[in-house]
Amino acid sequence: MSLTLYVDAARWRAHLDRTIRANPGLVPVVKGNGYGFGLDLLLAEATRLHGSAGVSQIAVGTYAEARLALSAYPGDVLVLEPYRAVLHADLPHLGDHALIHNVVSAADATDLGRRVADRGRPRVLVEGLASMNRFGMPFDGMGALLAHCSSEAGAAVDLAGASLHLPLGAGHLAEVTRWVDAFDVSRWYLSHTTPGELASLKTRSPAIDVRPRIGTSLWLGDLGALSVRGHVLDARAVAGGDRAGYRQRRLRAGTLVVVSGGTAHGVALEAPSAATTPRQRAIAVAEGVLEAAGRVRSPFTIAGRAAWFVEPPHMQVSLLSLPEGVTPPVVGDEVEVRVRHTTLHADEVVLA
Ligand SMILES: *Cc1c(COP(=O)(O)O)cnc(C)c1O
Repeated sequence: MSLTLYVDAARWRAHLDRTIRANPGLVPVVKGNGYGFGLDLLLAEATRLHGSAGVSQIAVGTYAEARLALSAYPGDVLVLEPYRAVLHADLPHLGDHALIHNVVSAADATDLGRRVADRGRPRVLVEGLASMNRFGMPFDGMGALLAHCSSEAGAAVDLAGASLHLPLGAGHLAEVTRWVDAFDVSRWYLSHTTPGELASLKTRSPAIDVRPRIGTSLWLGDLGALSVRGHVLDARAVAGGDRAGYRQRRLRAGTLVVVSGGTAHGVALEAPSAATTPRQRAIAVAEGVLEAAGRVRSPFTIAGRAAWFVEPPHMQVSLLSLPEGVTPPVVGDEVEVRVRHTTLHADEVVLA
């Protein structure tokens, strides 16, 4: 019937509280599939933290997500994608004063200021182009853009800070301090800095208000609090040579199990992963050889072992094959499935 994400609420919330304490100024990121919890649930949780833990701002990925967040969250909503006049000029919520925009060019800042002038000056962050190299103003142009956003002669916007998006991993303190030292901005929004780097930055530049924007290590930082399970819809004994599925694959003797959880839920959809260690590459090759032979290990665990797919999964269900000798589950049981939470779309999320 369902693929369900179960959340151990007490354990999950203890992790959220710990993460907020370890990262003062934290801005929760609420975007995409809501990190597997869904945007509505994370907005509700961010609202709870707004009241109980003093978290006053969240960040969303897009202007489309911002519209939902503005209606559900009581604090400020930062938009991570940059304001681009050519793309966003006609959005009805552009002038909402809870929004904080991200600008990367003088022309866009000027356009935004003009566009919403009747609703007051929009608040903006100026994003610097860090080594992540996604978007932002290059270092050499940053001073001029900051001046444009803070002087009377420039754009009619309020400068709320600057922002930098760094690659994953530690070791970016030198890059951050280069920007922080060069420009006279009192509040910096940073992505992918470690608690250690934040502490060093605070010690080094105590006057600067640092705001780390964090999604994954906040919502998904304690995977032990989460479990994803699919209902068994059917389990039938089959003989060797029987066939099943769209591709009519031959089965081995044992049990054919039909279970909730398919591509529509994000099951068995792995994002391309970089195999960086020899071990990861060896696993990728071994899985590829099995796959070429029509044997694909599924992410479902039955009787303590990874069950085999009969064929690649479809929208809402997966077909699994259990060998003889393995005690099969019965209809209504739930079986554990390993998922990538950032592509998960559960039918239900149970927070208990
Ligand atoms: C998605 C995103 C984040 C949050 O990233 P996590 O790895 O989920 O913590 C922070 N900053 C920017 C600019 C992002 O796009």
